Amino acid sequence: MTPPRVRGWCPGALRPMMSGDGLVMRLRPRLARFTRAQVLGICEAAARHAAGLIDLTSRANLQVRGVGEADWPKLLELFGGLDLLDADVRLESRRNLLVAPDWISGDDTERIATGLLARLGELPELPAKVGFAIDAGPAPRLQGDSADFRIERGVDGGLILRADGRAAGVVLEPGEEIGALIAIARWFIDSGGKAAGRMARHAAPLPDWARGATLPARAAEPLRCGGYALGAIHALPFGQVSADELAEAMLRSGAHAMRITPWRQVLLEGAEPQHASRLASGSLDVEKAAAAGWRVEACAGAPFCPQASAETRPLAFHLLDLAARGRLQAGQGGAPAGGSGVCTLHVSGCAKGCAHPDAATVCLTGRDGVFDLAYDARPGETPCAAGLAVDAVLARLGAD
Ligand code: SF4
Repeated sequence: MTPPRVRGWCPGALRPMMSGDGLVMRLRPRLARFTRAQVLGICEAAARHAAGLIDLTSRANLQVRGVGEADWPKLLELFGGLDLLDADVRLESRRNLLVAPDWISGDDTERIATGLLARLGELPELPAKVGFAIDAGPAPRLQGDSADFRIERGVDGGLILRADGRAAGVVLEPGEEIGALIAIARWFIDSGGKAAGRMARHAAPLPDWARGATLPARAAEPLRCGGYALGAIHALPFGQVSADELAEAMLRSGAHAMRITPWRQVLLEGAEPQHASRLASGSLDVEKAAAAGWRVEACAGAPFCPQASAETRPLAFHLLDLAARGRLQAGQGGAPAGGSGVCTLHVSGCAKGCAHPDAATVCLTGRDGVFDLAYDARPGETPCAAGLAVDAVLARLGAD
């Protein structure tokens, strides 16, 4: 087996990326879904041969972290046995497909996503971050999520193909969708899209056949934590879960599959929302914090990211707990933040700010093992208090 090719972007399982704690193997679900056997197999593999941590990405993939180079072939064998791998790196990199996670058997989303998976080999080689969204339910769910070309419901009830950066799309007749996706991907490459990297930055006019004036239908209400006909939706704090906790939730909830969303939530198929597990309780903290007006974000931080100079997750969990108990304060000098809406607290391992590129109500930036605190700021902006240890941060932000 050849050694893993180390890349700095869009890792896969066949082409992992080196991170601070070892290789990251990214597993792309088919139709946003892993079976129960696949989830339990991933958890066991992550616990036995990696760092025991699983990330949920904003492209609705799972990442197994902390894989040693010597363990990578073993994990490939295990994941291959679970039918999680593609035939080769070329096909793996083309399976950059976001699927509305609430599809039901026989609907347009399932039909189109399945059809595109069968024809991946017809796609041209695309820039690493170019992807597709299959969002063909009664109303679009994925409009806030990254995709360069999307199939979604139009205002008149039919399906449209819409290129990123365009307000409107072209109406497709039933059965035309997959051919249209392949054709627009080929046009993107032929018209010089590789240099732009993403459709939103590609200035070339769309081909005549892809120019349309049909607006997308109004977006669906977001899926929230709780029970649905398909099962239970739970939030993963900061998009991460330990392999042990995920396996426990699958077993205790009786879920027969897990669907992955791009919103740091998973849908446990066939599960009751009230089942007792550490995953369900972490989700409850996220929900309580949200009810108290807080969203807490944290990047991987040390030791997982080589750029990090501080551990982000332990501090973020403390702050999430404070938020869930209504004990987190925002605003300079401990005064509550005024106004309405959600306050964001961001714990960043360095000034890059991967977890939340925008300004946050409370922003903590790691520097040399301690944190700089700023309000209404992005990571790295001028702090009002610098060099705070974890205890000092908690003392300053907690209302205990
Ligand atoms: S913000 Fe910095 S420390 Fe956090 S994941 Fe990004 S590069 Fe790593």
